[in-house]
Amino acid sequence: MFEKQLKIPEPEEVINEAPLPESLKKIKAERDKLIADVITGKSDKMLVIVGPCSAHEAAPVLDYVERLGKLNLKVKDKLVLVPRVYTGKPRTRGVGYMGMFSQPDLTKSQDIPKGLKAMRELNLKVIEVSGLTAADEMLYPSDVHYIEDLLSYFAVGARSSEDQLHRSVASGLDVPVGIKNPTGGSLEAMLNSVFAAQSGQIFKLNGWQVKTHGNPLAHSILRGASDGCGNDTPNFHYETVMKVAEGYKKAGLKNPAVIIDANHSNSGKKFKSQIRICGEVMLNRGYDADFKKIVKGFMIESFLEEGCQTEDVVYGKSITDPCLGWEDTERLLLDIAEKA
Ligand code: PEP
Ligand code: MN
Repeated sequence: MFEKQLKIPEPEEVINEAPLPESLKKIKAERDKLIADVITGKSDKMLVIVGPCSAHEAAPVLDYVERLGKLNLKVKDKLVLVPRVYTGKPRTRGVGYMGMFSQPDLTKSQDIPKGLKAMRELNLKVIEVSGLTAADEMLYPSDVHYIEDLLSYFAVGARSSEDQLHRSVASGLDVPVGIKNPTGGSLEAMLNSVFAAQSGQIFKLNGWQVKTHGNPLAHSILRGASDGCGNDTPNFHYETVMKVAEGYKKAGLKNPAVIIDANHSNSGKKFKSQIRICGEVMLNRGYDADFKKIVKGFMIESFLEEGCQTEDVVYGKSITDPCLGWEDTERLLLDIAEKA
């Protein structure tokens, strides 16, 4: 039984209420090119997708991205910073907070029509205050049209990466899509999904049969694995990355690229370990030219305050996965830029 609760507005309606102004369209186009050039290898800058696990409230996210925008000016010769503005959250056990798109006001119950508008408005403000265009997780692939014109990066999460619709929608996007390894850690499944996303597809989307031409900017994200018994196994180490490089070659994929997700099952959610993990990866980049070539950047979970909220409400502190605080983040990004 499905009880109809609220009518969802069409993407056109939401976009018309909050269109992307001409001045910001230029920023978006420039940013898309900068980021694509990293994935294709035209630029040897590193991509860093950085920000809170979930963007649960607009004000601290805007404070955060404003800081990131300033920091970007210091590191822009070496790094391309992409704020994580994650408005859709997959949940391990399928219950709990689902993200701003679903619950724009934490004190009230779920309201997806309002949430879709809130996530669009937030992303417009993000570009205004920081000059940076953001990344989000593609949680419900058919929703990309609400936000596609504002984002410069999509991730397909570990719980979605083998899903047919996610891979097919990824194949039609014009910006890079990072596909995570599934929670169980299969590198083969991850590369199969990159193959699917790089291939042209014909499928069913929002009432249409659509055709895509394949997304050559689709690539992989290593987020660590979980063994099904509560133990995490990292997969950012040299040996694993080189196996992925080999897999890319064997499958004849375009633009071999790996992003290292420093949190999740790589850190075992010990958020401070993200600093060590990035350091180890930078050491390996210095050690081997092939490793350096394929490891194009990082995904880092970070917010204004470190850790995550437990009982008390704390401004700028994650309500989902624990994050690095701002000072550590700033130090880490400056350090990565120095070594890149
Ligand atoms: C995330 O990036 O916050 C996330 C949910 O990641 P994963 O899909 O790797 O668990
Ligand atoms: Mn997370």
